[in-house]
Amino acid sequence: MDIIKGIAVSPGVAICTAMVLEAEDYQRISHRTIPPEKTRAEIHRLRKAFLDATTEVSGLQTAQAELWDSRIKDIFAVHLHFLRDRTLRRKIADLITQHNYSAEYAVSVILRDISKHFGQAKDRYISERASDIFDIEKRLLQHLMQERREEVQKLTEPVVVVAHDLTPTQTASFNTNIIKGIATDAGGRTSHTAIVARSLGIPAVVALGNATRNITIGDIVIVDGNHGTVVVNPDQATIEEYQGYAEAFTAREHKLDELAHLPAVTTDGHTIRLMGNIEFPSEAKTTLQRGGNGIGLYRTEFLYLDAAEEPIEEDHYNAYMETIRDFGDHPITIRTVDLGADKFTQARSAVPERNPFLGLRSIRYCLQNLPMFKAQMRAILRASVHGDVKMMFPLITSLLELRQAKWVLADVKEDLEEQGIPFNENIPVGVMIETPAAALIADELADEVDFFSIGTNDLIQYTLAVDRVNERVASLYSPMHPAILQLLRNIVKTANRARIELSLCGEMASEPEFTPLLVGLGFDTLSLANPMIPDIKKIIRSVSLEYCQAIALKVLQFDTSNQTSNFLREELRKIQAGEIENN
Ligand code: PEP
Ligand code: MG
Repeated sequence: MDIIKGIAVSPGVAICTAMVLEAEDYQRISHRTIPPEKTRAEIHRLRKAFLDATTEVSGLQTAQAELWDSRIKDIFAVHLHFLRDRTLRRKIADLITQHNYSAEYAVSVILRDISKHFGQAKDRYISERASDIFDIEKRLLQHLMQERREEVQKLTEPVVVVAHDLTPTQTASFNTNIIKGIATDAGGRTSHTAIVARSLGIPAVVALGNATRNITIGDIVIVDGNHGTVVVNPDQATIEEYQGYAEAFTAREHKLDELAHLPAVTTDGHTIRLMGNIEFPSEAKTTLQRGGNGIGLYRTEFLYLDAAEEPIEEDHYNAYMETIRDFGDHPITIRTVDLGADKFTQARSAVPERNPFLGLRSIRYCLQNLPMFKAQMRAILRASVHGDVKMMFPLITSLLELRQAKWVLADVKEDLEEQGIPFNENIPVGVMIETPAAALIADELADEVDFFSIGTNDLIQYTLAVDRVNERVASLYSPMHPAILQLLRNIVKTANRARIELSLCGEMASEPEFTPLLVGLGFDTLSLANPMIPDIKKIIRSVSLEYCQAIALKVLQFDTSNQTSNFLREELRKIQAGEIENN
């Protein structure tokens, strides 16, 4: 039995067999074995990968026939020669049967060995073939990995997915009846993969370092998404202990659901609006079931992530109308697409950016892709006559950027008017405060918008210069850093002065230890992951506004994140134990 520690990113407990996905980078193929009864299936995978790779190279050969020069001709011939070589395939298959290696590992062992021999040859022609062998290995691995990814979609038995990392798109495609838990080597608490896992209610632990090396397909794995631990091949006593814990956790969740129809009001009568963050329109129902008062953040870019073709105006409109139908008159804040960084554009871009989080993401991407931006705005405006719809721009860093976005909006309104298409002329327009620049010019921004929503996930990343998806610096990613708390306090002051609405929609709003602090700082609207709405509501209903204000005052005097963290954790313990005296 092994216990691996990581970062808990989505609550709950899963106990299941493991499905391990290889890392997408071909340098790190793990020494992985499979259960002996799976060797036949593994050899079948290998045969299929050889076949698919051969078909692929033959296809390329035909497609390029007219362009052939003799060097290209040589390359295709060498590749096909190896891919059709039965002895080579048999050697790889032998490693699978004799040592129970995974097909990926067996391919990499044999082909790297051949490549090494070629590389050492004195004859230049032969030594240059080493890079061809590397290409063949890569092609075979690509097919094997692609097949494994497709296999995940076709599984019929529940599994825990173990991977080096997952993209938000991969995670979003998981069937929650089958994928019961997620464990990854990489990642951070506010990565979009973690956010999607939380929305789907799949227990997840990230930043495990070497999970993919230590876990083999078919191992029994426990994912404890509450404490950030993964137990590999637990003994019977440990399984029973976790089963008991999982049942208690589920019972507690059901009990919390009883709060769904009660308001989030403090013991001294101060009401907090709890809104849901969603990625897909289908989640709006869950927000309602869990007692949310509306949608505070609709991450519309997810429409792009699982689409085969670029969504058009009608796709946007249909998605928004689905949300509105579920939500009736409750407010729905639709954020214009926040593509880029860890979402979508890098994978599809011919030349990926060197610093994607500082690159062409979000509003910058939209302002450079006006037809796409306008299509989304038209859809939001058309939907705005059917519900309480607001429009929000992400990653604003300057007044000019906000104004440019508003000019585009004015243009789109004019077009709709000319075409006689109805829309809400006074649709509220807001910005996310998620860069230090926006926080510092909040006064000026407040004069030109109807509301602010603070995106702490990015605000923390950009203020502290800590990548939100990098597990190596995860311990530095602290919402309790005095710089962050000062920014939050100043933004509250600015919003109050300007009399504009304010909410906080970063993951900080989903974490119970921060609830008293945020209420005490003056946040009356929090927008959070659906599954956490009942937990946060329970805390609000257990404390007074006065107590929260005292907490905020105290925390603002601390100089370090650690002091704040210890203090808030202890206060949360007291609240949950019923030890707080309220008036
Ligand atoms: C944020 O940055 O806090 C936020 C809510 O936006 P996202 O997580 O989608 O970047
Ligand atoms: Mg953000």
